Formats: sequence, structure tokens, C-alpha cells
Amino acid sequence: SFLCTVNQQKMEESNGQQAKKSDDQSAKESVDHKAGFVNIIGSPNVGKSTLMNELVGERMSIITRKAQTTRHRILGIVNDENYQIVYSDTPGVLLPSYKMHEGMMKFVQDALKDADVLLVVTELGEKSLNNPETQEKLKKMDTPILLLINKVDKGTQEQIEEFVDYWSKELPKAEILPISALEKMNLTLIMDWIVKKLPVSPPFYAKDALTDKPERFFVSEIIREKILLNYSKEVPYSVEIEVESFKESEKIIRIRAIIYVARDSQKAIIIGKQGKSLKTVGIEARKDLEEFFGKQVYLEMFVKVKKNWRDDDKDLKNFGYL
Ligand code: GDP
Ligand code: MG
Repeated sequence: SFLCTVNQQKMEESNGQQAKKSDDQSAKESVDHKAGFVNIIGSPNVGKSTLMNELVGERMSIITRKAQTTRHRILGIVNDENYQIVYSDTPGVLLPSYKMHEGMMKFVQDALKDADVLLVVTELGEKSLNNPETQEKLKKMDTPILLLINKVDKGTQEQIEEFVDYWSKELPKAEILPISALEKMNLTLIMDWIVKKLPVSPPFYAKDALTDKPERFFVSEIIREKILLNYSKEVPYSVEIEVESFKESEKIIRIRAIIYVARDSQKAIIIGKQGKSLKTVGIEARKDLEEFFGKQVYLEMFVKVKKNWRDDDKDLKNFGYL
């Protein structure tokens, strides 16, 4: 068994630490499995959504709404016995108006940095992404990049060759592939390429748990993110979130969530003086949840101590780790 959530894994990586895979058991289980984030970027209207639908296929229904995790908007997850591809896009990469606190460049960097594999979608006739900084950044990156020239059904062989040639020179490190998302041309080559490039890793998401309750899953991800943002390092790693109830009516979603901590002292920290800290988390989480679900959200949160939940098999199972 392994203990691995997206945030923990990514946080540990960005802290320069290795994800803990010390015991033999987990090493054995993850040895052949591949998993990673495939970020899809590109200018508007080039065919990103069309492509996504084709790549994820009917499995798109796993996620009924566009998902927002810490830094990724998850578009779909493709699970296979041997791999898990998490397709996501990075909201705002090509939209300078995206309302983030950070400056544009910082955001572009973060967004690109988080991908294990990048799909850059262009369309035939397009010679520059609509954000020049992104294009410059792509040239310097070590992340495997597959540059797709979409809509080749609209062009001639010569045009296609011209653009393959152009992009090979513009992004020498990238692999270039002409496709037609609409006509389903060359799409299996994309999948093959991605699986080849994915890092060896255990899955980021429970392979079946996700299909059950995607809404709850993303609610807990959003709350977790706010906890990460509002408390110092150790505390977020000691919490686990359980969405106890999720009741959706026409106008409002009522959510009851429990934040489990491992010690009494952590409970006090999470709640904060006169409940101030927890209130901030609640306000921020609700705001994101309302944006995410496109509906008014009523969020209730409780903090409970569950001593040493990390070592308890039953608890780990409940939280979807086992
Ligand atoms: P997005 O904004 O990048 O997500 O682009 P969409 O997937 O929404 O596609 C924009 C338009 O391009 C739609 O009208 C699609 O039908 C069309 N489109 C997408 N892929 C292709 C393709 O391979 N060939 C052609 N001819 N049109 C396409
Ligand atoms: Mg789209």
C-alpha cells in the first residue's frame, strides 16, 4: 500500500524532497506503474476540448464537472492497469487576465513546472501561441513536449509539411505531430507517446474511488488546498478531509465536511483563536466551491481528532488510500 495524494506528492517534490517510497512493499507495487499529469495548453479554439473528448472518451463521464485542484483543472483521467493519465489544463496559462495573485510570469512558470508531460495544441496556420512568454518558456523546458498541429484535415500535404518544419525549428526539443481531433487522425499516437513519457509512479488518484463520488473528492481537494494555504507546513500533512454529506438541490449545495487531525494540539491550530482560522478556510473554500459547481454552496466544517489515522488501516481505507 502507499500513501500518496496529489498535493502531498507535488508539495514534496516542490520542497525538493523525495516522495517516501522507502519500504519494500510500496517500491514493489509501483515499480511498473506509470502516472502523471499531462497538461494541455494552447490558444483558444485550436481544438483542445475536442481533442480531450477523444482522448478521454466515455471515461470523461467520470468527471461530471470541470475539476479544480490546487494547480490543475482536471479534464479527465484515463486509467489502465499499468498507468494513470491525468489530463488537465492550467487555467490562465494563455490568458493574462486570469485572476491570480501572482504575476503572470510566475503563474506561467508554476503551470508549466507542474506537468510531467505537456501537450501543446496549435492549429494549422498558427505560428505563435497567443502568449509569447509561454512560447519562450517552452523552448527552455526539460519537460517532454508534444506539439500537436491540429485541424490538418483542412490543409494540404504541403501546408502540413511547412508547419511541421516551422515548429521543429521553433521548438527543437519538442516532438511534432500533425493530427485531426475532429477526424480522429493520429490520436492513438498521442496516447502511445504519453505513456512512453510518463514517469514511473503510483497512481495519484484511487483508480476506482474516483468514479464513485467525484464531487466529494473535489470538495475535499479544495478544502485541503485552503488548509495548505492557511497553515504552516506540518499541519496540512496531518489533516484528512471527509465529505460526510453532499446534498444538491436546484439552487444550493449543502456540504458537511470533517477535518480529521492526528492530535489535540492540531485541532486547536486548525480552529484558531475564536475560530478565526477555520472561518477563513471556510470562506475561501466556499468561494472556490461556488465557482466550481456554479451554484450557491453552504459549507459546514468540523474538526475531529482521530489519533494516528495515518497508521490505521481502517482509516486509510476510508480515506481511499488502500
Ligand atoms: P478549444 O477552444 O481549443 O477547446 O477548441 P474546441 O475544441 O472548442 O474547437 C474549436 C473549433 O474547432 C470547434 O468548432 C471544433 O469543431 C473545431 N475543431 C476541432 N478540432 C478540429 C479538427 O481537427 N479539424 C477541424 N476542421 N475542426 C476542428
Ligand atoms: Mg475548450
